[in-house]
Amino acid sequence: MLTVYAARERLRRREVSAVELTRAFLERIHALNPRLNAYLTVADETALAMAGDADARMARGEDTPLLGVPIAIKDVLSTRDMRTTAGSKILANYTPSWDATAVARLRAMGAVFLGKLNCDEFAMGSSTENSAFGPTRNPWDETRVPGGSSGGSAAAVAADLCCAALGTDTGGSIRQPAALCGVTGLKNSYGRVSRYGLIAFASSLDTVGALTKDARDAAIMLRAMEGRDPLDSTSVEVEPIDVASLDQSRDSLRGLRVGVPAEYFGDGMQPDVAQRVREAIAHLQALGASVREVNLPRTHLGLPVYYIIAPAEASANLARFDGVKYGLRVQGRDLIATYMETRGAGFGAEVKRRIMLGTYALSAGYYDAYYIRAQKVRTLIKRDFEQAFSHVDIIAAPVSPTTAFPLGAKIDDPIQMYLADVFTLPVSLAGICGISIPCGFDRDGLPVGLQLIGPAFGEQRVLEVAHVFQQTTDFHLQKPKWHGQPRSS
Ligand code: GLN
Repeated sequence: MLTVYAARERLRRREVSAVELTRAFLERIHALNPRLNAYLTVADETALAMAGDADARMARGEDTPLLGVPIAIKDVLSTRDMRTTAGSKILANYTPSWDATAVARLRAMGAVFLGKLNCDEFAMGSSTENSAFGPTRNPWDETRVPGGSSGGSAAAVAADLCCAALGTDTGGSIRQPAALCGVTGLKNSYGRVSRYGLIAFASSLDTVGALTKDARDAAIMLRAMEGRDPLDSTSVEVEPIDVASLDQSRDSLRGLRVGVPAEYFGDGMQPDVAQRVREAIAHLQALGASVREVNLPRTHLGLPVYYIIAPAEASANLARFDGVKYGLRVQGRDLIATYMETRGAGFGAEVKRRIMLGTYALSAGYYDAYYIRAQKVRTLIKRDFEQAFSHVDIIAAPVSPTTAFPLGAKIDDPIQMYLADVFTLPVSLAGICGISIPCGFDRDGLPVGLQLIGPAFGEQRVLEVAHVFQQTTDFHLQKPKWHGQPRSS
């Protein structure tokens, strides 16, 4: 398991060159990706050229936390030299002429891009089965989903097909796949990382972040991407993450006040998930934290509110895919027919469902009843968290009610699929931050995630607590059994 931090140390000590490291990752990707389908594009030449540049920069004495480190990018983030499909047929042959800001910042620091990672179409889904290019498989059990929508990112990190991966989280798409694949995934507060160049799903909820092998890497990646960007008016300048202070952080959590929301342990939870999360909370307590119950009484409203707001914004954002400017065009007999045929052929079933839901919610006569009402309840959900954070520093909860489910199990039942996100949606609606870290395994040996939730721009504290947890446990160091060699099925 090679973290960003460890890769950088080895590069700095000249134990390995960026080109050698990149070659090793590419070989492993070519060996394992045919079974996992985590990468949609493997950018051999681009990656080796970037690695060559990184080696040259190192030879000139340059040193940045990402120089020469091989990473990969969810395919909803624009890359100027790699095809960017958003998991959709409608963008199957689309290469943007610009980089997303998060991508540009990593490129400037000398990171090496191995390729683009599979995801649910336009990031809509919780299993990566909505990708037009086939599902990604979970490295822990190839008959199961990796979660979604950043399932390719989570699987690639879990299977060591990159040091770290970019993902996006609109309602859980970093945290839930991180939990299901046993990796670390930080959903940043809304506005902390620029959304410029992210193919928009729901603009008031979309966030860009990283899936990593541990919390220290999460801090390194966030530090590289965060901050105000003139190209995204909702991005903000905040106190930068202090990566070095993580290592000074003790093995004690004395003084930390942890809240546990009763609403996150109700019916429908897989019992061993609840058990592992409770054990993790007991561990925080053993490290000196004080634990108390908090209430988030509108938790059950997160799902209905999200499924008004997110589809409404998606229906507007996806209007641009009309066969004129981007991607696929299916020529019809006139302009309207071209729109209809392009969209009919280019979008998958879930995307069409969301466009219809969203268009309905925004239509005249229903706008007040649905969209405006949902926005009001969203404010109440946000207030629940504000209220809780007046008593505690951090909230500890499950990420997902279950561990990784079998491929195909929920794909014909959208409500069951949507329920995979009950514990991640409220954090997204409130615009705050949350990290998923591994906290144990279920009876089948599948990873369980612990969610640590912080207030808006409270990433530093969240990362410190996650780091202390990882310094005193080894769940994040465990690997799928076939690690190193593909397991014969
Ligand atoms: N699973 C949720 C959805 O389908 C969240 C997706 C996301 O965060 N991008 O909308």
